[in-house]
Amino acid sequence: MSFFVILEQRQGVIKEAAVDVWRTVQHLAQVSGGKEVYGAVMGDVDTDLIKGRCAGKGQVYIVRDKAFHEYAPQAYAGTIVEMIRSTGSENIFLANTAMGRDLAPRVAMRLDAALASNCIVDAESAGVLKAVTTMYAGTVSAVIQGLRNRVVYSLAPRVCRFEEPFPFENKVEVLDAKGVNVSDSIGNPVLKEIIYHTGRKDIAEADIVVAGGRGVGSNENFAMLESLADVLGGAVGASRSAVDDGWRPHADQIGQTGKSIAPKLYIACGISGAPQHLAGITGAETVVAINCDRDAPIFKAADYGIVGDIADVVPQLERAICGFQRVK
Ligand SMILES: Cc1cc2nc3c(=O)[nH]c(=O)nc-3n(C[C@H](O)[C@H](O)[C@H](O)COP(=O)(O)OP(=O)(O)OC[C@H]3O[C@@H](n4cnc5c(N)ncnc54)[C@H](O)[C@@H]3O)c2cc1C
Repeated sequence: MSFFVILEQRQGVIKEAAVDVWRTVQHLAQVSGGKEVYGAVMGDVDTDLIKGRCAGKGQVYIVRDKAFHEYAPQAYAGTIVEMIRSTGSENIFLANTAMGRDLAPRVAMRLDAALASNCIVDAESAGVLKAVTTMYAGTVSAVIQGLRNRVVYSLAPRVCRFEEPFPFENKVEVLDAKGVNVSDSIGNPVLKEIIYHTGRKDIAEADIVVAGGRGVGSNENFAMLESLADVLGGAVGASRSAVDDGWRPHADQIGQTGKSIAPKLYIACGISGAPQHLAGITGAETVVAINCDRDAPIFKAADYGIVGDIADVVPQLERAICGFQRVK
């Protein structure tokens, strides 16, 4: 039984979320009695770059085909499944990113495997894997174990909490995949990729996220949150209402139909705390809520709550943090 990791790349760079999955799988392989680990990178990615990002033991195969430069659902799934079959891997891992959410069920279906999505995986002493995921908009936790011989796990963001330095030495071999049939049917080709350069970290990868909801009131008022995020070195997220109103792009949406995040600090500004929003913040370590309604449900999910108007509270908070940073 070996482990197989699908390493997502964007513009030739292995995504932080994929590195996180790789590290987690290295740990799982070790506690499961030294299972073999295979990885696959689709697209033209520099060999040394992969070696630098993926520490531990195992073999990473690169499928260098220009068809894979951008995510092509059918072709990715077809080629990856062929590689999984040839390695005989039974546990397949990938990050629960936008691409991961699309690819995981395609791969699972073709392999007739079970699918555990947006989960945290642990290995029990006998090497049996146990996945914990949330269901019904985060209101229920489900344990997924031993459903089929093969299981595809899409891992929740930032599940790997190893302190630096990473405890595994680097014995990873990076090889060009040979003899893999690249599917000539790309299916629906990507016509245009729109990339927003915000200069900030992706909310799914950030240590600190400041998010705004309908209570922010307008696109312009998000400048307040951006300013606070700048001071904290964080990213800016949003509730679905703020996205639906066109104040933020969908990439910033947190929740059931947006991204799951797991920052060390999450500051929710003018967000009521609907279950669909809370489903996306179950991994947050500390939650601070700012809301003018003292009965807002977000306070039940918060570690610290501030009842007040965000137009007063957010600038005060920023000044206090700046003052604290100066004193330090
Ligand atoms: C199938 C489905 C999927 C969904 N997926 C998601 C999802 O992924 N993410 C998501 O977020 N939602 C999702 N939703 C929508 C969700 O149910 C809520 O409607 C949404 O989260 C509400 O957004 P909000 O908290 O910004 O707005 P509201 O619920 O309108 O809350 C605004 C809050 O701001 C406060 N406020 C107003 N003015 C101020 C002020 N000046 N200062 C301080 N506080 C103020 C108010 O007291 C209120 O609590 C989904 C819904 C469905 C049905």
